[in-house]
Amino acid sequence: MPIAHNTSLEHYEVWFLTGSQHLYGEDVLKQVAAQSQEIAAALNASSAVPVKLVWKPVLTDADAIRRTALEANADDAVIGVTAWMHTFSPAKMWIQGLDLLRKPLLHLHTQANVELPWADIDFDFMNLNQAAHGDREFGYIQSRLGVPRKTVVGHVSNPEVTRQVGAWQRAAAGWAAVRTLKLTRFGDNMRNVAVTEGDKTEAELRFGVSVNTWSVNELADAVDGAPESDVDALVAEYERLYEVAPELRAGAARHEALRYSARIELGLRSMLEANGSAAFTTSFEDLGALRQLPGMAVQRLMADGYGFGAEGDWKTAILVRAAKVMGAGLPGGASLMEDYTYHLTPGQEKILGAHMLEVCPSLTAAKPRVEIHPLGIGGKEDPVRMVFDTDAGPGVVVALSDMRDRFRLVANAVDVLDLPEPLPNLPVARALWSPKPDFATSAAAWLTAGAAHHTVLSTQVGMDVFEDFAEIARTELLTIDEGTTLKAFKKELAWNAAYYKLAGGL
Ligand code: MN
Repeated sequence: MPIAHNTSLEHYEVWFLTGSQHLYGEDVLKQVAAQSQEIAAALNASSAVPVKLVWKPVLTDADAIRRTALEANADDAVIGVTAWMHTFSPAKMWIQGLDLLRKPLLHLHTQANVELPWADIDFDFMNLNQAAHGDREFGYIQSRLGVPRKTVVGHVSNPEVTRQVGAWQRAAAGWAAVRTLKLTRFGDNMRNVAVTEGDKTEAELRFGVSVNTWSVNELADAVDGAPESDVDALVAEYERLYEVAPELRAGAARHEALRYSARIELGLRSMLEANGSAAFTTSFEDLGALRQLPGMAVQRLMADGYGFGAEGDWKTAILVRAAKVMGAGLPGGASLMEDYTYHLTPGQEKILGAHMLEVCPSLTAAKPRVEIHPLGIGGKEDPVRMVFDTDAGPGVVVALSDMRDRFRLVANAVDVLDLPEPLPNLPVARALWSPKPDFATSAAAWLTAGAAHHTVLSTQVGMDVFEDFAEIARTELLTIDEGTTLKAFKKELAWNAAYYKLAGGL
């Protein structure tokens, strides 16, 4: 298996299942097999489809379907299955298999041909190419069983089809990463903060995430124990990769602070690797023997694929990790973010997001500056941090709240903007954005939903991937985008309160 914080999608696969039945005879089933292999190959050839599809022999009876579902469940490389009823596959054959399936499901409603062969069409053609009603039979049984799935409609040569398949695969990969996530907490939740709290036992049941604590002084020991030669090499890497402030460079007055920051990175990495963790939290209220609040180290680890939440916020750390995997290989990045302060000029409202230190440099293609400044809280030495502006472009901010009887995701589509002016006195990385549909509606909906001040900001994937993720995770998602009105949003909240109580059972 790959290292825990890997974001590569290369080791994942999605099984391509084709439904049919024995009634058609050998010749037709051979054609079904050949054509479904072509469909799978066409998907694999698309750059929009990041995870490889593995074609499986055509399924023609209940036993084979049940066994395939169990094999998919048992194979850690399989992040989901795609099913297409090329012909008619009587759906009672699918009941046991679908009931047992625990992997995300995409129902691909497609067809081998694009155009009807008007001049040549005969009843053999009709019999071979009848997904139009074979998939309706399959849709019925999925709905009757209450199987969560994504339905994608159209020929695989249509870019909109491959885009949707790709988005779903990314969501399934994020889900696979979350299902196997071990999260290391250093210190507890920030004192008295409500929204960063949550039910860790329920999180392990619902999301598969294992959230556990380690002593911050164990981390401090690992930091102190980092070999001097490793510190030398890492500091040299910093000077190569970033624009390091003159006072921090080798031989300069504050170089020791940069070396200590490198030690924190080495100590964190060694502990996270020992734990098999791909996400972690810190708490500025519980730094033990650490001399600096981890800043640059956290930024570097996030850039490497680790999920992170500040102030003990393990729920946001999960989202950052999921977003890292879902966005793998795409331009842009993903980071812990916090709504900080507003520009409230009417009609030009903007949100300035940042954090004390910990914003991931994947949000910019530019070279970050490495700086040292005092930090008003925590009572420790001045921490080293990377400072940069987030690149402009579309993005999404997503928060996870524990609503007592369920988890709730809230996502807002945003436009990340260039800063209208430099911010020479703000010594942290930042992002400026305008939320959709407009500032007042977005903020009122966000507050009404009880969504958090910590989020993941992704500029790699959009709302569609988070929608698929929520469907797969069977978790409530409230979206705030171009179509949102506060009136409808409040009704959705009221309906959801009833729906999730009923859907959750007693
Ligand atoms: Mn915070």
